[in-house]
Amino acid sequence: MINFTVGPVMSSDAVRAIGAEQVPYFRTAEFSAVMIENEKYLLEYAKAPRGSRAVFMTCSSTGSMEAVVMNCFSREDKVLVINGGSFGHRFVELCDIHEIPCVVIELEHGKKLTKEKLYEYDNKAFTGLLVNVDETSTAVLYDTMMLGEFCKKNNMFYVCDCVSSFLADPYNMAACGADVMITGSQKVLACPPGISIIVLAPKALERVQNSKIRTMYFDLNNALKNQERGQTPFTPAVGILLQINERLKEIEHNGGADAEVARVAAQAADFREKISGLPFEFVSESPANGVTAVHPTTANAYDIFLTLKDEYGIWICPNGGDMKDTIFRVGHMGALTHEDNTTLINALKDMQKRGLL
Ligand SMILES: *Cc1c(COP(=O)(O)O)cnc(C)c1O
Repeated sequence: MINFTVGPVMSSDAVRAIGAEQVPYFRTAEFSAVMIENEKYLLEYAKAPRGSRAVFMTCSSTGSMEAVVMNCFSREDKVLVINGGSFGHRFVELCDIHEIPCVVIELEHGKKLTKEKLYEYDNKAFTGLLVNVDETSTAVLYDTMMLGEFCKKNNMFYVCDCVSSFLADPYNMAACGADVMITGSQKVLACPPGISIIVLAPKALERVQNSKIRTMYFDLNNALKNQERGQTPFTPAVGILLQINERLKEIEHNGGADAEVARVAAQAADFREKISGLPFEFVSESPANGVTAVHPTTANAYDIFLTLKDEYGIWICPNGGDMKDTIFRVGHMGALTHEDNTTLINALKDMQKRGLL
C-alpha cells in the first residue's frame, strides 16, 4: 500500500518501530523529559517568538481548533474567518457553537485571498482572525505575512491553523506575528493521529490566563501548568508522543524545519511535473506544498480514488461534500519518495489505457 492521502500519512521505519513497543507509564521523569524536549522542538520549528509555549492535546486537530476558539475568544470579540473550503467552514461552525461573533470571508474553491479583498475588512473593529494556512480541502495556501500585517494594523488576535502546512510550507510565527499556531500528529509530523499541538505566543498566553470559559478537558491553563513539568492533566496518547519525539529528532538530523519544507516542496514539484499530460487540471490558484488538489476533466474523481485503492493498492485522498465527484487530492507529506510518485503516475496512465480516464 502506498498512502498519498493528507493524513494519516506514511511514517518512517523508526517511528513505526516505536508503535510496536509496549506503552510505558507516563508519570515519570523520563516521560517528562520527552515532553519538555517535544515542546522545545515545536517552538523552534514553528519559529515561535520568545516566551511562547506549546501544549500537546490528546485529540484530533479539530479538538485543538475548538480549544483555541474557546480559550482565546469570548462573546465580546468580533472575529474574521477566512472560509475557502471544509476547514474554513469548521472554524465558522466552531464560532457559531461557542457564540463568538464572526464575519466570514467566503472564497470560491481554489481561489486565493488577495490583499484587495482582505482590506475590504480593514478598520472594521475586528478583534481576531482565524485562518487555515493551507486550506487542505482545496490546497490553497494563504499568505501568512500579508495576514499578519493586516492583523497588526488592526490590532487583531491572529490564529493560524497550520495543521497541514506546518513543516510543509515556509512559516515563521514570530515574523508573521501569529499569536497561535495549531498542528497535528498525522500530517507532516507523519505519526499516527491522536495528538494535536497548540503553540501560544505571549499574547495568547495572556488571553488564556484571563479566559473565563467553563470546560475541564479543553482548559488550556491547566494544560500549560502541567506542561511546565512535562506532564498533561489527563492520560495522553503516550505512544504517539514518543513517536513524535522520534520524528522531531529525525527532522533535526535531516537538517531541521527548513530542510523538511524543502523536501515536501520537492516531492510536490516532482508530482506536478509528472502529472502533466494526463487529463487533469490543478484546482488551487496558490498551491500549498503538502497536497495537490486535482480536477479530473474526463472522469469522476471519486471513481478514480476507488479504482486506485481497490485495483492498484494506492491511496489518494477523496474530497467530501460538493467536491466529492470533481476533486481528488494527492498528498506529499510523510515518508513518500519521487519513486512513489512515478508508481502513482504509472497507475493513472494504465487507467487511461484501460479507458477509465
Ligand atoms: C487535517 C486538518 C485539520 C484537522 O483534522 P482532524 O481530523 O481533526 O485531525 C484541521 N485543519 C486543517 C487545515 C487540516 O488539514
